[in-house]
Amino acid sequence: MEKYKKLINPQNTIELVKKNEFTFKKRFGQNFLIDEHVLNKIMDGAEITKEDSVLEIGPGIGTMTQALCERAGDVTAVEIDRDLIPILNETLSPFDNVKVINEDVLKLDLNSISDKPLKVVANLPYYITTPIVMELFESGAKLESVTVMVQKEVADRMQAIPGGKDYGALSLAVQYYAEAKVIANVPPNCFIPRPGVGSAVINLKCHKIKPVCPKNEEHMFRLIKAAFAQRRKTLLNALKNESSLGLSKERIQEVFSELGMDERIRGEKLSLADFAALSDKILK
Ligand code: SAM
Repeated sequence: MEKYKKLINPQNTIELVKKNEFTFKKRFGQNFLIDEHVLNKIMDGAEITKEDSVLEIGPGIGTMTQALCERAGDVTAVEIDRDLIPILNETLSPFDNVKVINEDVLKLDLNSISDKPLKVVANLPYYITTPIVMELFESGAKLESVTVMVQKEVADRMQAIPGGKDYGALSLAVQYYAEAKVIANVPPNCFIPRPGVGSAVINLKCHKIKPVCPKNEEHMFRLIKAAFAQRRKTLLNALKNESSLGLSKERIQEVFSELGMDERIRGEKLSLADFAALSDKILK
């Protein structure tokens, strides 16, 4: 491979942005990474090897893509902003193992990207972090892991355990599909322009076997959603108030009693296994 100019430093990033008269778009959550130490932590945390097919969401000017191309077998980079495509064609020209797709990742058929299980790596646009992560899991695409830069507060929610203030529907959904581990905390000065919040890199290693097997996955998630939609209420009231579940107070009391659950319990005390058991009992 020919020697090329790595983008991962403030000077090279600013130079490229100016040369191309590129203006950052807030609506696309554009904060480009400029810190090599953080980049290396992401690459190491994602455990990328030449055996891997990688999907990068939002390559920007190609900073992380360059590093991915060096380490991975092949890279598919999906970028929504068409102004970035000519820039990517230039910055990724030294590599023959990358394909750039100009598309909204939420509109893409993720199953069509590769026959191999994918490792997803991204510095995600913060305005749609949760929809993207949930789409990755719910699409049924074969995934090995998802290693992403997200808002620090979102990373805390993803790996929260029952009882805490960060614990909620996102924690349960992520933990149903993967094992979550924060691998780096990243301050705003590692990006251009600087985001208004702290960031963190989280590694989600997808479960080969799910930790619980509810009879009806969709029903379990409807219960979870209802429980946290009114998190200050008791679980009993939250479930009773969600009309789409069609549960009377008496029926919920009956199920709680069968499961030995206190009627005053709140949803935030329940683990994934508890929600699976509750769902199964209700459907019985
Ligand atoms: N990966 C680059 C880096 O680390 O420097 C850029 C990261 S920036 C936080 C997020 C990137 O995602 C931007 O390039 C933005 O245009 C792109 N993006 C935003 N929404 C997107 C979407 N729905 N589908 C694909 N890319 C998107």
